[in-house]
Amino acid sequence: MVKVNENFLKMPGSYLFSDVAKRIAAYTSAHPDARITKLSIGDVTRPLVPAVIKAMHDAVEEMGTFEGFHGYGPEQGYLFLREAIAQNDYASRGVAISPDEIFVSDGAKSDCGNIGDIFGVDNTVAVCDPVYPVYADTNAMAGRAGDYLEQMGRWSKLTYLPCVEENGFSPEPPKEKVDIIYLCFPNNPTGAVATREQLKAWVDYANANGSIILYDSAYEAFIHDPEVPHSIFEIEGALTCAIEFRSFSKTAGFTGNRCAYTVIPLELERGGTKLNGLWNRRQCTKFNGVPYVIQRGAAAIYTPEGHAQVMESIEYYRNNSKIIRESLASAGYQCFGGSNAPYIWLKAPGGMGSWDFFSLLLDKANVATTPGVGFGPRGEGFVRLTAFGDAEATKNAVERIKKVF
Ligand code: PLP
Repeated sequence: MVKVNENFLKMPGSYLFSDVAKRIAAYTSAHPDARITKLSIGDVTRPLVPAVIKAMHDAVEEMGTFEGFHGYGPEQGYLFLREAIAQNDYASRGVAISPDEIFVSDGAKSDCGNIGDIFGVDNTVAVCDPVYPVYADTNAMAGRAGDYLEQMGRWSKLTYLPCVEENGFSPEPPKEKVDIIYLCFPNNPTGAVATREQLKAWVDYANANGSIILYDSAYEAFIHDPEVPHSIFEIEGALTCAIEFRSFSKTAGFTGNRCAYTVIPLELERGGTKLNGLWNRRQCTKFNGVPYVIQRGAAAIYTPEGHAQVMESIEYYRNNSKIIRESLASAGYQCFGGSNAPYIWLKAPGGMGSWDFFSLLLDKANVATTPGVGFGPRGEGFVRLTAFGDAEATKNAVERIKKVF
């Protein structure tokens, strides 16, 4: 009889967002007049920008002609997009990344999950706590995480890197040797960023131990502080120890379009094997590329008008972040993140737990948030607020939160 992958049977239920939705539904059915503002959404709400729409329209027209029709594209992505990425996201910041080191994909989520295919099952893995759940769960599915310890909310074989107030939610390398390290900056859920010095410590650690850093910078476009690195490859030594994931989802409103990319330097080798070659083999075997029309749309954000339009949307969200952060801080709340990220990590006053604070804000302010503990035990005592909503609704929601205490 067929045996299933028993690692899947160890997976805890993914309750966080369904629990949040259930509690909101229960509240609104008991209070039909309540108008809930969802500062819990992790999805963009602004429409695609005109330059992207035009590029996609033009590409659709092309596809309707014999000369312009595109069938299967290169598994790695069209060269026009990889060249635009290399030039605009890297060369412009003084980082030499060639198109051969870039793999266009249908999402940073898929890439972060699939990258485990090229690593042996015996590698040790470190993730942040709190964490974007994809990193831990996909390692559990592959058998690298051990057993799920329900009481602790942790996997037995993973190393957890505490991201807490004391370290500015940016962890230091552990004392022990870990093979694979997932880092995400700007961070989901805390909104924290890592400094150059902090990243340098990680790069040195990885090069010294033969580890690999899997660096998720899906929220890179929200960085505005010139001191904050946009890419791990801005750090000296990273080309020999890091893989970077980027996405058009939050940068350009592509969550429904699906386009992202992963950078694997040609210099990156372990045991004499180039990881770029392994990922290329993996992608060519299991992936048939991102649609031509979507890649044309993505490339449009690198034109001067496309860039300006996309930055306007980012600015809209950044303004929401600013309103949330500054208004809540002025009312005495402790807020973290939100300056270079679309997430604000709000501390519950008086040592209250995440879920109690969630319920209080839902009831007294009619605002939905995401309980921090849902991202890991070290998220207890926090809720995550997002800046992806409507500006007016966000402003009003914040005013209501201010009045709760
Ligand atoms: N990485 C992080 C940290 C995220 O928060 C998200 C989405 O919320 C993703 C990756 C997913 O990106 P994509 O839409 O490209 O799959």
